[in-house]
Amino acid sequence: MRIFGIIPPPSREEHLRARIWAAGGLAALALIMLMLLIGSPPPEEADLAPPALRTARLAAFQSDVGACRAAIAGAGYATAPAPDVRDGRRCGYENAVELTQSAHAYSAPLVTTCAAAAALILWERDVVAPAAERHLGQAVSRIVLAGPAYSCRPIAGRGDGRMSEHASANAVDIGGFTLADGTSISVERGWRGTPSERAFLRAVRDGACDRFAVVLSPDYNRAHRDHLHFDLSPYEVCD
Ligand SMILES: [Zn+2]
Repeated sequence: MRIFGIIPPPSREEHLRARIWAAGGLAALALIMLMLLIGSPPPEEADLAPPALRTARLAAFQSDVGACRAAIAGAGYATAPAPDVRDGRRCGYENAVELTQSAHAYSAPLVTTCAAAAALILWERDVVAPAAERHLGQAVSRIVLAGPAYSCRPIAGRGDGRMSEHASANAVDIGGFTLADGTSISVERGWRGTPSERAFLRAVRDGACDRFAVVLSPDYNRAHRDHLHFDLSPYEVCD
């Protein structure tokens, strides 16, 4: 074929090179499009879509109630906005929520900061439910509160007048549990109760320490002989 004979060799090479570049470019473009469509996003974005309820995000929830409520809803639970409370110079709260749908029923309506509600849901779902099955062989049907989350008062058992996290609805007091068969387990009696009650109550206390900043049980002092106190203060205590 004479016709190929007259095409200068450099020209053929250039043509081939151009085709290779074009094919390579198209392939790279397709790869980028594919990565944008289905590729794994950076870790932070992965946390946001779909909104996930994770212990690691609780700190961010303290300052972003919208993200907190969305994460709770995304995990299948529900909160309702609670009216702000102004109560003197040292007490009250803003942007609190009522936990209207949690992993368990509660003995009374529960209004807390959204971050505390999120921590509570995580504790119920990931600690209380498996601990009940493991140590008691049945589910918890109701969590019994040992008083309202909000209370304008100093920290119990201290004389320095520092205000409790309850004064800003950033704390929860758990008095006990009702089981599926109707049995009640109170912190006060169960702490030194049967081996399974003792194991269950210590498991839910220990598991709370990974979700809340401060966890106080009957082991801590007499002021907590009848309830577990959880809060999200800047301090860390697990006792
Ligand atoms: Zn308390």
